[in-house]
Amino acid sequence: MYEQIINNLNGTRYERDYPLSDMTSYRLGGNADLVVYPDTVDEFDRILRLLGDTPRAVMGSGSNFLVSDEGFRGVVISVKKLNKMKICGNVLLCQCGVKVSSAVKCCLDNCLTGLEFAVDIPGSIGGMVAMNAGCYNKSTEDAVCFVVAENGTYNKKQCEFAYRKSRFLSSGEAVYSVGFLLKRAEQETIDGKLSKYKGARSKNQPKGNSCGSVFLNEGFFAGKIIDQAGLKGYRIGGARVSESHANFILSDGGSAQDVYDLIKYVKRKVYIDYGIELHEEVRYLGKFDENRT
Ligand SMILES: Cc1cc2nc3c(=O)[nH]c(=O)nc-3n(C[C@H](O)[C@H](O)[C@H](O)COP(=O)(O)OP(=O)(O)OC[C@H]3O[C@@H](n4cnc5c(N)ncnc54)[C@H](O)[C@@H]3O)c2cc1C
Repeated sequence: MYEQIINNLNGTRYERDYPLSDMTSYRLGGNADLVVYPDTVDEFDRILRLLGDTPRAVMGSGSNFLVSDEGFRGVVISVKKLNKMKICGNVLLCQCGVKVSSAVKCCLDNCLTGLEFAVDIPGSIGGMVAMNAGCYNKSTEDAVCFVVAENGTYNKKQCEFAYRKSRFLSSGEAVYSVGFLLKRAEQETIDGKLSKYKGARSKNQPKGNSCGSVFLNEGFFAGKIIDQAGLKGYRIGGARVSESHANFILSDGGSAQDVYDLIKYVKRKVYIDYGIELHEEVRYLGKFDENRT
């Protein structure tokens, strides 16, 4: 089925039937039919056009994906090789596969401030922009100047950022590279901010395989409500609600379906107890069984 695509990859690395558990922070999920690894943005663009209507998913660091145990019948494009950065004045240009931590380090080295809040977000720049990732009352949109994407170049307003949303997440349009508009600052000042943010996270963030916060905080703290519903420590198979931060669902190595079932259980219990509908921040890939719990 994928012969035509493979024959036209022109030397781009690919894997057939590849386990997506190797590519996600949950370390769960079955295989993708095909994974491709473009190493230039032009190649990325060419592959997306080559795929046409073939089901596809762009994967950055895989830190916000829950992949089904059956895997994904389609093509995953891993952008991890698109990891170049450049500084032009106060603008940091990053290809989509740059790790957020590398971009923050580059800012520190070059006395640029504005991205410190993201220091421990374990994602790629493309995923960060698509998700409009954020913490400590800051989000990616605060620093974005422009985004070069599959269908054109967008200024910040055109990116349609909202809480954990962007036009890229809504439409599935791939992000190629991003320009961040930053400010000059003393290295010591930047370093001080980084230490503050790192300290806060190491105190509050549960250890173990997860996707970070599972649910959106839409005018309330999802973790607080889940805690009030008595669900801290609640377990289904290999998945459990963290005892220290109830918006985290950790996997001890069971199945992706366990995590999915626990997410649905938490949603149901919170709705029954409080009439509140929780919505997922985590992105699903592949098919899950809706009827197990
Ligand atoms: C321990 C832990 C802590 C976390 N803390 C935070 C936090 O503080 N704040 C926060 O907001 N998030 C947090 N997250 C969630 C996650 O790290 C962020 O959402 C991150 O921005 C996702 O980036 P990624 O590259 O891993 O994206 P992926 O998981 O690979 O993908 C997530 C979504 O983005 C899309 N995407 C990825 N790359 C591209 C691209 N190039 N073009 C278009 N779409 C793309 C994917 O298709 C998918 O829909 C945390 C996760 C973990 C595991």
